[in-house]
Amino acid sequence: MIEKIYDRILHRNPGEKEFHQAVWEVLESLEPVFARRPELLDESLIERLCEPERQIIFRVPWSDDSGRTHVNRGFRVEFNSALGPYKGGLRFHPSVNLGVIKFLGFEQTFKNALTGMPIGGGKGGSDFDPKGKSDAEVMRFCQSFMTELYRHLGEYTDIPAGDIGVGGREIGYLFGQYRRITNRWEAGVLTGKGVLWGGSQARTEATGYGLVVFTEEMLKTRGETLEGKRVVVSGSGNVAIYAMEKARQLGAVPIACSDSGGYVVAEKGIDLELLKQVKLDERGRLSEYAERGGARFVPGGRVWEVPCEVALPSATQNELDEKDAATLVRNGVQAVGEGANMPTTPGGVRVLREADVLFGPGKAANAGGVATSALEMQQNASRDSWSFEHTEARLTEIMRHIHNLCHTTAERYDRPGDYVAGANIAGFELVEQGMVAQGLI
Ligand code: GLU
Repeated sequence: MIEKIYDRILHRNPGEKEFHQAVWEVLESLEPVFARRPELLDESLIERLCEPERQIIFRVPWSDDSGRTHVNRGFRVEFNSALGPYKGGLRFHPSVNLGVIKFLGFEQTFKNALTGMPIGGGKGGSDFDPKGKSDAEVMRFCQSFMTELYRHLGEYTDIPAGDIGVGGREIGYLFGQYRRITNRWEAGVLTGKGVLWGGSQARTEATGYGLVVFTEEMLKTRGETLEGKRVVVSGSGNVAIYAMEKARQLGAVPIACSDSGGYVVAEKGIDLELLKQVKLDERGRLSEYAERGGARFVPGGRVWEVPCEVALPSATQNELDEKDAATLVRNGVQAVGEGANMPTTPGGVRVLREADVLFGPGKAANAGGVATSALEMQQNASRDSWSFEHTEARLTEIMRHIHNLCHTTAERYDRPGDYVAGANIAGFELVEQGMVAQGLI
C-alpha cells in the first residue's frame, strides 16, 4: 500500500530526486503507524501531506557591479500550515531547484512540529550563488528577490529565515526591502535578524548548540557524555562552527571540519576564534585558516576518514554515504548527529543503524535553529528581547523535549533507540492531528 502511494508521488513529481528520497524515508518509518491505524490511508492523508499547499516560482533579475544583467530563479514552497504559519529558511546556492526546496519544505514541516512551537513548514531560495559576489551585488539580488516575495509573506502567513548562503547580511537586505515596499515595521516577518533590530540572542549559535545538546542526550541513554570525545564536523559555516563551540564547552575536542576545498585536522582541537575570523568575518577558505593556524589541510579529502567518537555532518544533503559510514564505524564512531538537512544517504543510515551507532536525524537534531526562530517570533510579538542566557536555556529545554519525544515514540512503536522512526512518527502524529481536526485541508 505504501509502495503504491509512493509510486504515485514519484510520477506526480518527476525528476525531484531529493524530494523522493525525503518522502520515502518518512513513509518507510510510518508503516507501523498505518498497521495500527489503517483508516489514515483512506483519508489520503499521505497524498495531502506530500502535496505542498502552495508553490511559488519567480524570476529574479539583477545587475552586477559592471552593469551586466543576470536572471535567477526564486522559489518559495509553502508546504503545510496545519500547526502554524509557514516557517523555514531561504537557501541561495547554485544547486537549488524545485525538488531541493520541496525536500527541505517537507522535512521542515515535521521538524517544526517536533519543536512543539506553533509553526508550519515552508522553504525557499534561489539558484543564485553568493560566492564571489560583492556586498552591493548581494544587496541588489536580495532586493529583487524580495520585490516579488514580499506579497506572499507576513508575520501570520509565512516567515522565512536563513539557510545555506543566507545569513545576517542577506536577512538585513531582505528585511530592508520588505519594509520599504510594505511601509510596515513588521519584525515577525523574518527571523535571524540583527539583535539591534528585532533579532534574537543565540539565533546564530542555535542550530549548532542544539545539535550538540541533542547528541549528548543520545549519548546519555547509554551512560555516556561528550567529555573527552573527539568530534569531527563537516562544513565550516554557522552550524559547524557553533556545534564545535558547544562541543568544546561540554568537554569534547573538535578536531576536524571541512569546506568544499577539503578538510583541516588539528589533534589538539580547532582554533575556533581564528576559524570564525576566516570563515564568518572574512568569508575566506579553510585552506587559509590552515595556513594561518598551522593546521594540517587535506585538499579534496573526505573529512569522515578522520577517526572520531562523534560525527556531526553539518554541510549539506547526501554528504555522508555508505562508504563514509563504514569508515566511521571501522574507526569506532559512537554517535552521529545531523546538523544539516538529510546529509546522510539512505545507505549511510543503514550502515550506522546496523552497527548500532546512535543516529540523530536532522529533523530532530538540527531543530534548534528553527526553534530559536520561533523564540524570536515570540519576542517580536511581545516587543521584548531576552538575554542570551534565557534564550539558550529555552533552546536547551526544547532540544531535550525533542529528544525525549523521539525516544519515547520509538519505544512506543517497538523500535527502541531508533531516532529516525521516533522523529518521523512523532512529527507525523502531530501534523496529522492538526490536519484531521481542521477538516479536509
Ligand atoms: N534553515 C533552518 C532549518 O533548516 C532554519 C529555518 C528557520 O529558522 O526558519 O531549519
